[in-house]
Amino acid sequence: MMELTKGVCQDKRELTEKEALEILKSEEDFWEFYGQAVIIKNHFTRTKMSLNVLLNAKSGLCAEDCGYCAQSKDSESEIQVYSLLSGDEIYKRAVIACKRKARTLCIATSGTRLNKEEITRLGEVIRRIKADMPLKICLSVGLSKKDQIFYLKSCGVDRLNHNLNTAEGNYQKIASTHTYKERKETLKLMEEMQVHSCSGFIAGMGETDEQLVDLAFELKDLNPHAVPVNFLIPIKGTKLEDFQQLTAMKCLKILTMMRFLFPRTELRASAGREYYLQELQPLALLITDSIFLGDYLTSAGQEEDRDIAMLDLLEFAYEPEQS
Ligand code: SF4
Repeated sequence: MMELTKGVCQDKRELTEKEALEILKSEEDFWEFYGQAVIIKNHFTRTKMSLNVLLNAKSGLCAEDCGYCAQSKDSESEIQVYSLLSGDEIYKRAVIACKRKARTLCIATSGTRLNKEEITRLGEVIRRIKADMPLKICLSVGLSKKDQIFYLKSCGVDRLNHNLNTAEGNYQKIASTHTYKERKETLKLMEEMQVHSCSGFIAGMGETDEQLVDLAFELKDLNPHAVPVNFLIPIKGTKLEDFQQLTAMKCLKILTMMRFLFPRTELRASAGREYYLQELQPLALLITDSIFLGDYLTSAGQEEDRDIAMLDLLEFAYEPEQS
């Protein structure tokens, strides 16, 4: 196994699908894989951790039917519903994110896609934020057309988020109003337009280990610049409210597999880390590069002070580098 780690660190060797599956199915031998994942993180990013703050800039009333999402048309969850926040409000949230030492503000909006006026409003405020603050901006605005991507890029957007969500073979069980193929095409368009992409998945939505491996390798082929690994938070009122497929150890195995597969890419222990890992969260931090600070789109995260305390205990560096 040390040969594999050495090969991965020196760009001479990549994890194979068979090895990825071995990690997911490992038992007591898991800790050997985990130890090597710590070495990989240490080799590339040492004790660095990036903090991301998520802003739900437009909430609810979505026409899509993603089974995990409280904002979907089929969800009966009680959530706040509002149209796109004003430019001033988004700017204010960016100032707060900066004070919280975030490196990236992730602005997400509900819905299949934004209209022209909404895209313009976002573009204008992003220009203001980029002029005044050292924040990186990642946008999650659903499906985008070429001219919209071009415009947002010209306003200073650093990354676009578009998750693959789940394996192709599992996709129609999770959402039927759009396809896996459409999501993949959007990611390919981003690559064509040389926009940095942030793309990951939500584990725990009924996929098999084999499907998770397929998904991870499909992601690898799409060359994302950041990979958020989410673990399903079963939200009351959503189609997946009773899903309880994951355990803390399974989450660690998934992150370990992803560390081997994406040794140089920003790997995020994303939504659901608190829910499943609880006291084991520091183990996830030792093999990843970023976390969300504070709340998720419609679910509460853990208190910010607890996240910072964990990072301080590990003596991790989370101050953003000035660019
Ligand atoms: S994940 Fe996005 S597209 Fe899907 S239902 Fe939720 S807000 Fe709509």
